[in-house]
Amino acid sequence: MPTFFDVIVVGAGNAAFCAAHAARERVERVLMLEKAPREWLGGNSYFTAGAFRSTYRGLDDLRPLLGITDDEAASVELPPYTVDDFRTDMRRVTEGRADRELSELLVIEVADAAAWMRDRGIRWKLQYERQSFETPHGKRRFWGNLPLGTHGEGVGLIEQHVAAAERSGIELRCQTGAVGLLREGGRVVGVVAEGPRGREELRGGAVVMATGGFEADPRMRAMYLGPGWDVAKVRGTPYNTGEGLQMMLDAGVQPYGHWSGCHAIAWDAGAPPSGDRELLHRLSKQSYPVGIVVNRDGRRFVDEGADFRNYTYAKYGGEILRQPGAVAWQLYDAQTASLLRQDEYEAPGVSKAEASTIGELARAVGIDPRVLERTVEEFNAAVQPGPFDPTIKDGKRTVGLTPPKSNWALPLDSPPFLAFAVTCGITFTFGGVRIDRQARVLDRAGRPIPGLHAAGELVGGLFYHNYPGGAGLARGSVFGRRAGATAAEHARERLAIPR
Ligand SMILES: Cc1cc2nc3c(=O)[nH]c(=O)nc-3n(C[C@H](O)[C@H](O)[C@H](O)COP(=O)(O)OP(=O)(O)OC[C@H]3O[C@@H](n4cnc5c(N)ncnc54)[C@H](O)[C@@H]3O)c2cc1C
Repeated sequence: MPTFFDVIVVGAGNAAFCAAHAARERVERVLMLEKAPREWLGGNSYFTAGAFRSTYRGLDDLRPLLGITDDEAASVELPPYTVDDFRTDMRRVTEGRADRELSELLVIEVADAAAWMRDRGIRWKLQYERQSFETPHGKRRFWGNLPLGTHGEGVGLIEQHVAAAERSGIELRCQTGAVGLLREGGRVVGVVAEGPRGREELRGGAVVMATGGFEADPRMRAMYLGPGWDVAKVRGTPYNTGEGLQMMLDAGVQPYGHWSGCHAIAWDAGAPPSGDRELLHRLSKQSYPVGIVVNRDGRRFVDEGADFRNYTYAKYGGEILRQPGAVAWQLYDAQTASLLRQDEYEAPGVSKAEASTIGELARAVGIDPRVLERTVEEFNAAVQPGPFDPTIKDGKRTVGLTPPKSNWALPLDSPPFLAFAVTCGITFTFGGVRIDRQARVLDRAGRPIPGLHAAGELVGGLFYHNYPGGAGLARGSVFGRRAGATAAEHARERLAIPR
């Protein structure tokens, strides 16, 4: 087996595949190393719903990706989501902290990255089931600026990436993790890898690290995110244990971003400790904007309607973790049951209770019935009149209640009542290493480390406190593509590969 390559990409999620494709457009010998066995290929990217945050002035901008008919196009209402809108969202949800330069590249390049992925064989679709509701005029209206998704969700995305890599002759070695960086005179010249053949040195013109965050390592979670995070459930791959990050930190790389922050959501309380390759993202419970959420004491603790789900879900997992027992219940009634995401709320084994009164529901889930009845009565009394419309921020809210519900507040008064038990599921960590515009990894003095590039979850500086839904795949694509291209250019120069 060869041990010398033009570019070595470490990891095999979306960011790594984008890096490998971009490198392969420029050089011949591209190797991908994946720590997980073949049956766990694809990292967190495999677990995704494939939701991809891109920009568009209207449906016409997306149609070249989708190949939909005129009739289908006429049945869709899609408010524009421009570069300016994405820029504003990045500032807004990260409380102004997102790195300006990286954020700007993300918002400017994401649409082109989606088109580039299509040209590599990634197929796109509109996410009807997860991101649209029917309007009174019978059209599907997309809310929350996230209509675009990959065909076959994360599973399809990874299958299409693998097929593209095979077509172009990229070599993929599974069950082969990087355990160290090889350095010569300050330059990164390869990795030490451990796999079925033992430990070996793999050398190359440049290395791209795309090994994900540290969300699957309980010790690192407790160290960086804080007490209690070690017991959070992991939504995705158990293989993102942070050693890629650690390897780079040991090599003097600059840590960057929100190291005590992460993306974490409401996740089925009965879910296994880490991701389930069959149920994938279906253990998520994300329809809370049309219901209310209470803790074990029967009290509400978040504004369920503060914004569309796409702008609140990633921070509400942390709120659940801070509740007694790190559990909560999402409550719905007959008025809203049909609006729940079917794939999530009808998943096999879902932690659900149903009753004809709030008191009975409370008893079924172990909450003091008197407290829950009072919470619901107070909530119902605080709901203001006005039309309810889940396709827009309808301003139908509560008054005089803490916390308020700012949109989509309907009284919970139509049996049967439903309760879904949720806990905190961590998705990925925000802290990482610092890169420049070319996705070159910087040292503690801010200088690029020759031969070392990075993309995806392990890059810090983009997300703080919160995250706009669909930006994880988008970020991996934009910076994976950049990292692969720059790594290949570096390799060409270093190895004097003719153009
Ligand atoms: C359930 C779920 C649903 C999600 N849904 C969405 C969504 O719809 N849209 C969206 O934008 N984001 C979503 N996300 C977030 C998204 O998955 C990530 O932001 C994105 O996929 C990260 O891509 P990545 O390539 O950086 O990491 P990953 O896809 O996690 O890939 C990292 C890879 O590196 C490998 N690795 C780790 N250490 C080593 C090592 N030492 N050597 C070699 N390989 C190593 C891992 O095994 C893994 O395969 C979701 C996440 C989860 C868990």
